[in-house]
Amino acid sequence: MPELPEVQTIVSDLNMKIKGEIVTSFWSDWKKGIRGNLRKFKKEIEGKKIINVERIGKNILLKLSGGTVVLIHLRMTGALLVKSQIPKFKEKYTHHIFFLKSGKRLEFSDIRKFGSLELIKISKKEKMAGLKGIGIDILDKKFTLSEFNRVIESRKTNIKQILLDQRKMAGIGNIYANEIIYEAGINPKRSTSSLRPTEKKAIYFAIKKIIKKAIKFRGTSISDYRDSSGERGKFQKMLKVYQRAGQKCSKCDTIIKRSAIGQRSTFHCPKCQK
Ligand SMILES: [Zn+2]
Repeated sequence: MPELPEVQTIVSDLNMKIKGEIVTSFWSDWKKGIRGNLRKFKKEIEGKKIINVERIGKNILLKLSGGTVVLIHLRMTGALLVKSQIPKFKEKYTHHIFFLKSGKRLEFSDIRKFGSLELIKISKKEKMAGLKGIGIDILDKKFTLSEFNRVIESRKTNIKQILLDQRKMAGIGNIYANEIIYEAGINPKRSTSSLRPTEKKAIYFAIKKIIKKAIKFRGTSISDYRDSSGERGKFQKMLKVYQRAGQKCSKCDTIIKRSAIGQRSTFHCPKCQK
């Protein structure tokens, strides 16, 4: 599932490739993937200019002229591909296509079809506050150490689950949660209330470090993730614990353990993470 670094890679690519383009028409063979009415959706976007592409957490906002915004959820296997030439065949998993005036196409490919497109209206006030039900983006300037402390003190759970809670802070999924907690040297089962100030600080800086590094390497391709050119990310080579159960910890040679927290696979070094 694409997390913040993968979504940020796609958003940066889209701004380079299709910003300023006009949407001439839209095609879909998966009506259920469009929230609301397909005809209304087409009518609202056709003829509009792509002003820019933004990201809040793992959500993509395609901002069009006239205040129209298409909210894109990639979910499990969604991918946005920019094609310059008309392909000979429609790719099997392409379910929605935005045709652009220059001849380019923005294709939404989705193997498992959990992804969605939705028209939303964003007022200036909401823009400041983010999206309804979505917590603060972890790369937002307002996501300071004191804000992070406030967020983790707001829910009694373990550290791993609060990192994954999109209503509290947006952008981290299971891959990066495991890597962040390892980087910080904290046991993933530790309760948020047991964390000392120095430990919270270590987790906060691990979030910044791991996420920025993953963006630099254009995300992690463990299963389906591809960027807007269909290329894989490179951060999977840097993973220290995720899907490395049974292998040696790179810091201390202890065997990485696998467990489950909230039904999600969890990986940690029993020696380095206390
Ligand atoms: Zn270790």
